[in-house]
Amino acid sequence: MPIRPDLRPLYPPHWRDLSRYVRFERAGGRCQGCFRPHLARVRCLPDGRWFDDDARTWRDQRGRPARWPNLLETPERRSTRVVLAAAHLDNDPSNNRLANLKSLCQRCHMLHDRPHHLAQRWITYRRRYAMGDLFLGLYNENAT
Ligand SMILES: [Zn+2]
Repeated sequence: MPIRPDLRPLYPPHWRDLSRYVRFERAGGRCQGCFRPHLARVRCLPDGRWFDDDARTWRDQRGRPARWPNLLETPERRSTRVVLAAAHLDNDPSNNRLANLKSLCQRCHMLHDRPHHLAQRWITYRRRYAMGDLFLGLYNENAT
C-alpha cells in the first residue's frame, strides 16, 4: 500500500528495510492474517476463502484449510494478485516497534484498518459541519 504523501514524514528513514524485514524475513513472504503468499495470483471468494496452489486446497481468511466452494459459490470466484505490506497494528505510522508491525495482504490490511478509516471519516464530516456552522451554515463538500 503506497504511503500517503502527508504521512511520509512520520515514517523512519529506514522504513524500506524495516518493511522488507517484516514481510519477507520474519513472515516468510506470507500474509500473517490469511497466509496468502506475496505476488501470487490466487483464486478467492467474497468470504475470504482462497485457493492455495502449493497445498492444493482452499483456505479460510485465517489460512486454515476450508471447505471447497459449492456450485452456487463457484461463479463468485475471482482472481487477485497478492501484495504484502507492513501494517501498523495501532494505525500510528510513527510507532515502528517490531511488535507493532505485521505483514498483511491488501485484504487483511483493509479489514484491519477499517475501524480507523471509519473514525477518520467521521472526524472529516464533523469538521465540515463545524466549518459550516461557523460560516452561515454553508456546508462545503470540498472543505478539509
Ligand atoms: Zn491476508
